[in-house]
Amino acid sequence: MAIKTIFLDRDGVVNKEINYLYKIDDFEFIEGIFDACLYFQNLGYEIIIVTNQSGIARGYYNESDYKIITNWMLAQFRDRGITILDTFHCPHGPKSTCECRKPKPGMFIEAKKKHNTDMKHSWMIGDKEVDIKAANAAGIKNTILVRSGHVIDESNSTAKFFLDSIQQSKQVITN
Ligand SMILES: [Zn+2]
Repeated sequence: MAIKTIFLDRDGVVNKEINYLYKIDDFEFIEGIFDACLYFQNLGYEIIIVTNQSGIARGYYNESDYKIITNWMLAQFRDRGITILDTFHCPHGPKSTCECRKPKPGMFIEAKKKHNTDMKHSWMIGDKEVDIKAANAAGIKNTILVRSGHVIDESNSTAKFFLDSIQQSKQVITN
C-alpha cells in the first residue's frame, strides 16, 4: 500500500534557520515541532526530511558532520516517540547540475521509489519557494510555506497555504 507522507524541509521548519548549520550546539528545534509530528503520526502519515546541504559542497562541513547532527536529531525525535522514516540531503552547490538540489525534485522522486509514497495524499512543508517548486515537480500539490525560516514572498508563491510555523499545521492538515 502506498504511504502518505509529510515531507519536511529541515532548516527553518524543523530547526531555527542558521546559515550552514552543522554543530549540535547550534541546533535549536522550532517550537511545536514535536507536537506537530506526533499529530501527523496519529493521522497515519510517515515523516521524511528533504534538505539542501550545500555547506558540504562549499567545504564548511563534510558528510560525516552532517551524519552526526542528523543522527542526533533523529534521536531527539525518537525520544519523544516520533519516527522519521528517512532523511534525504543534497550535498551539492547552486552551480551543480545534480538532480537532487531543490527546486529539482530528485530527493522526492528517490523517496517515492524507496518508500512507495502516495504523492497525491502527501504534503510538503518548507520555508522557501524552492521547497514548493520541488514538491510540485514531484507531483505533490499539498504545500505549506512557513514563516519561521527565510523571509517568504507570499504574493509570488505557488504554495497552497501560509502559516507562521509548523505548529499551526493542524489547521490545514486534517486527515
Ligand atoms: Zn544535489
